[in-house]
Amino acid sequence: MDVQKQESQSNEQPPNKSKSNDNRRDDYWIGFDLGGTKMLAALLDAKLRVVERKRRKTKGHEGLDVGLKRIVATIESVLKEADVEPERLRGIGVGCPGPLDLKKGVIREAPNLGWVDAPVKEYLEDAFHCPVVVANDVDAGVFGEHALGAARGSHCTVGVFPGTGIGGGCVYQDRILQGKNSSCFEVGHIQVAPDGPLCGCGQQGCLESVASRLAIAAAAATAVFRGQAPHLREIAGTDVAEIRSGALAAAIEAGDDVIENIVSSAAEKIGVAVASLVHLVAPDTVVLGGGLVEAMPDLIVKTVRATARKRVLPSYKDTFKVVAAKLGDDATALGAASWARQLLCD
Ligand SMILES: [Zn+2]
Repeated sequence: MDVQKQESQSNEQPPNKSKSNDNRRDDYWIGFDLGGTKMLAALLDAKLRVVERKRRKTKGHEGLDVGLKRIVATIESVLKEADVEPERLRGIGVGCPGPLDLKKGVIREAPNLGWVDAPVKEYLEDAFHCPVVVANDVDAGVFGEHALGAARGSHCTVGVFPGTGIGGGCVYQDRILQGKNSSCFEVGHIQVAPDGPLCGCGQQGCLESVASRLAIAAAAATAVFRGQAPHLREIAGTDVAEIRSGALAAAIEAGDDVIENIVSSAAEKIGVAVASLVHLVAPDTVVLGGGLVEAMPDLIVKTVRATARKRVLPSYKDTFKVVAAKLGDDATALGAASWARQLLCD
């Protein structure tokens, strides 16, 4: 026994020379977040710890060709900064916006980028000679929180991310819940108000038409115009584009009660949708993320939790927790890498 113990201790002593000289391809992963305005490449080691990250503007309007080259250049630059040869990449996971062809790894349409039929998987596989997995960006973010963040160890994780719209995703028994060819869990388009306002999707009364940051900002701008929110008037005025999450949080902090009511009423609507999701998939963890939640975690998480608990069948009341996301801007990149690792290594 003692000899064995000593042996195992000596095995743990770094550095293990044979390993550090090992040039196998299973050493590193790239997680990539392709956003409408910014792209983020994260280089992760075999244990999915971030070694290096690089953020650049996406500049989607410069065209698909330029955009794909820019993705490759960003990955090359993060590899160079970390002094890691591309040959050591085991795989790349990319979180992408818009409707995707998951099998082919093609972005079918990304209005924010102005791209149609972007062959992300094929292009990156040609460039780096390693497997590439493409996922919906919100799904990747929820998977990141499930694998490495606020929902670690959960059986079922539901993520809701209010932003300009409201994104959602579900990880069930360590798998992203997906359709045969497309992503799903479009939480933002759950109908919560049949005669409600027009949604960006063309329908009426979707959750995101009444509870997204854009919907909140529009209501807040009206309150400012009416003279009900003097602090927000000073911070941001009536321009909806200026009424960002930080401005809303600062106005509430300064005493604009009307703004607090607008935000908590939006969070209640999210709570109503969460109650339905609890009935459908029985998550043990509901993760709330995005800039709005980051700016006002207490107000939003508490309100969503209280509303959802009030709205579920009694037997579900204590079966789920509602928590704020932990990975921030890294969630999609980290999630895309860990999802790629799971698909390619399991
Ligand atoms: Zn909609």
